[in-house]
Amino acid sequence: MTTATWLDLPEDSLFGLANLPYGVFSRPGSADDRRRLGVRIGDQVLDLGAAARAAGAPSELLDAPSLLDSPSLNALLAAGRPAWTALRGTVTGWLTDPAHRAAVEPQLHPLTEVRLHLPFEPADYVDFYASEHHASNLGALFRPGTEPLTPNWKHLPIGYHGRAGSLVVSGTPVVRPSGQRKAPADPAPTFGPSLRLDIEAEVGFLVGAPSPLGEPVALGDFPEHVFGVCLVNDWSARDLQAWEYVPLGPFLGKSFATSVSPWIVPLDALREARTAPPARDVPLLPYLDDTGADAEPWGLDLTMEVSLNGHVLSRPPAGSLYWTGAQQLAHMTVNGAPLRTGDFFASGTVSGPEPDTRGSLIELAWNGEQPVKLPDGSTRSFLQDGDEVTITATAPAGDGGRIGFGEVTGRILPAVG
Ligand code: CA
Repeated sequence: MTTATWLDLPEDSLFGLANLPYGVFSRPGSADDRRRLGVRIGDQVLDLGAAARAAGAPSELLDAPSLLDSPSLNALLAAGRPAWTALRGTVTGWLTDPAHRAAVEPQLHPLTEVRLHLPFEPADYVDFYASEHHASNLGALFRPGTEPLTPNWKHLPIGYHGRAGSLVVSGTPVVRPSGQRKAPADPAPTFGPSLRLDIEAEVGFLVGAPSPLGEPVALGDFPEHVFGVCLVNDWSARDLQAWEYVPLGPFLGKSFATSVSPWIVPLDALREARTAPPARDVPLLPYLDDTGADAEPWGLDLTMEVSLNGHVLSRPPAGSLYWTGAQQLAHMTVNGAPLRTGDFFASGTVSGPEPDTRGSLIELAWNGEQPVKLPDGSTRSFLQDGDEVTITATAPAGDGGRIGFGEVTGRILPAVG
């Protein structure tokens, strides 16, 4: 790949040619304020449809202009891996070949002048529980006196179906949910705003190419179906969750909002970020077994950063996840469940082994026993109204460079009523 762009970019830009993430933007106040597809380069966004018209695109893309002139990524997602690879090559050519500069440069807009939207129309949403450290910590907190990991945990990636309709783009305010809460000592449940509102820092995977009903997706087919990766904050009302989750799992304590970062980093940008997952303690059934000599490691070496009101709380390492994205996808479809374009699945909270690498407040403050101290002198066990949480991440990109993920941020608004 050509390594030089005609743009004036710092050498260490997290959004250089090695990245080129996809999003959906509009230009509020302009004559044409449609939502359209963009690629981020530096602190600008390239209008893909406009660039294709101005500079020319490969014929297979020009023959299907709806791919690029669309208000969401879904048409491009459905086009599959060959189209994704071709488009990335084309965009790279636009941004490196000086012959394209005159046509392409006017299609760049400063990020400060655009509004970013949820980049895809969600189909189904699944959330996993893939971090051994997180699952162990939650087990110790929720089920004291028992084994922290349930007997199934190291045999399959545990997950549940979430609510696709409440996926929201970064920056969307999060209204504190109300619901039934009942502490163990309470004689009966009460109704009211959640008193234990929390975050979960996760990695999200966006599915592009569908799969037919009845046909499991093998581990090795992960890159044929998954378009790219983003960051997720799975807001969680711990008091609602604790009362409702037995025996069918998370429900209203999770489904009020799930925030995603606006930029989808393509798998092609993450080749250098791939890393072997932790050693597995128990043998895996064949459809999940990625320990063979010819198996490809699909752990991702993302270093995440979680901030509360601008203060860094933790740096969760996604490379520590026990279950990889490929295993999550294989498990999600092993019963023949089909994939649809726009399906989205998340890893579950990323927590590393050290206390300052935990990805949720309930772990960081150890269920309120060790409240987190903030620079303004206040403390937190859970979120207060007005709090703003931001999650970012970087990943290795080769030659010592790194690529960045767009931040996922959200501010808590008071409960309604
Ligand atoms: Ca979660």
